[in-house]
Amino acid sequence: MIYDVIVIGGGPAGLAAAIAAKKEGAQVLLIEREGRLGGILKQCIHDGFGLQRFKEKLSGPEYAERFIEEFHSLEIPAKLWTFVTKIRKSDQDFQVWTVSRNGVEMLVSRTLILATGCRERTAKQVSIHGTRPAGVYTAGTAQHFTNLQGVMPARRCVILGSGDIGLIMARRLKLEGADILGVYEVRPEPSGLTRNMIQCLEDFDIPLHLSETVTRIFGDDRLTGVEIAKVDEQMQPVPGTEKRIDCDTLILSVGLIPENEMAESLRVTMDPRTKGPVCDSWAMTDVPGVFSCGNAFHVNDLVDYVSESGELAGTSAARYFRELKGEADRTAENWISVETEGGLAYVVPQKIRKSDLDKKLVFYFRCRRTMGESMLAAISAGKTVFEKKYQAVRPPEMERVVIDLSKADIVGTSLVFQLGEVQA
Ligand SMILES: Cc1cc2nc3c(=O)[nH]c(=O)nc-3n(C[C@H](O)[C@H](O)[C@H](O)COP(=O)(O)OP(=O)(O)OC[C@H]3O[C@@H](n4cnc5c(N)ncnc54)[C@H](O)[C@@H]3O)c2cc1C
Repeated sequence: MIYDVIVIGGGPAGLAAAIAAKKEGAQVLLIEREGRLGGILKQCIHDGFGLQRFKEKLSGPEYAERFIEEFHSLEIPAKLWTFVTKIRKSDQDFQVWTVSRNGVEMLVSRTLILATGCRERTAKQVSIHGTRPAGVYTAGTAQHFTNLQGVMPARRCVILGSGDIGLIMARRLKLEGADILGVYEVRPEPSGLTRNMIQCLEDFDIPLHLSETVTRIFGDDRLTGVEIAKVDEQMQPVPGTEKRIDCDTLILSVGLIPENEMAESLRVTMDPRTKGPVCDSWAMTDVPGVFSCGNAFHVNDLVDYVSESGELAGTSAARYFRELKGEADRTAENWISVETEGGLAYVVPQKIRKSDLDKKLVFYFRCRRTMGESMLAAISAGKTVFEKKYQAVRPPEMERVVIDLSKADIVGTSLVFQLGEVQA
């Protein structure tokens, strides 16, 4: 059988994509390497999910359940415990190789949605000196032990990095009785959401140390301590500031990397700023018929936006053959490129389909540095076609902006976004 859409990944992005594609009438199959649907949400038992979408404070599993129920009610087939290992593109379709308990299988689809999420950076990727004892975990692994396996991974714990997962785990382990000796952040400002700084650290009296990092690990079988040092403006350790902290656990919350090996194997063009694919306003990559969404596209802080991007990818994939008719979509003239200037780290999508110029489009952006009152401007052919003011912007907080393109007079081949601080 040839599917219209194969979705790879059964997290919130993949679930929303599969549901949207099915509602558009497509023959959909979802493939997930784990035994249950829900992705990372399965282990996020804290609340705070769904505030935008459902106006409710749900836990991760509760949020996922709403989509899983709809997924099953639409009778969408899913292959669980099934790992996609390889994809090949032919003229008409994609061949998707999977490994499961049934062995190796090859499935065929007209379009693909890559919803594979992201993975955490590890100790190796931040180059800490010393031995490699047990007791050094990424925050997500510690969360998996604590919340899914009922195993307590820490007694006396240091957390490196102030990313959201680290902050959430600081609070979680404290509630389970661990001593959280401190969160150490190499940058001069925290990298988690403001709400997590307050609810996870301040409310639980957990100290945050900025411009400090872990420089060495001690211990043979199990971690016995870490060395901490202050860092200079280039984030290099300052000699003479080292101190040892005795602990049995080091938890790393030092960043997330979109999981895109399959996109790369298909020679999808990647954006070095997001580490995800370059996509257009249909969530399509530059390989026709391959779509990307959720944390595989770019790392999101809020699951509500992950679901939104999944829905766009699902609807677009289902409509792809009906409306784009193969070759026509390959022509560069079909797009306006989205460019960034000033204080912007990135804006996605990176391309606007010209056929979308009469629609309202959702853009997401992050800034490079914390700024006070700021103005986002979209400029076409030297003319400002859209402006929005922000009270403040911070790199950890992704912003979502809707622009009614029918009201913006966009001409030429590019739309330039600028973000600058408003001068008093
Ligand atoms: C600790 C933590 C706390 C968070 N807290 C909040 C919060 O309070 N509020 C909020 O709104 N958001 C929060 N988020 C963010 C939100 O949960 C994520 O942004 C969202 O889950 C990402 O969804 P996704 O579908 O893109 O990826 P994931 O949920 O990671 O799903 C990807 C799926 O793809 C599967 N997969 C990958 N590769 C393959 C393959 N080769 N073959 C088959 N399957 C594959 C994986 O097994 C996984 O199930 C939090 C995230 C984390 C990690």
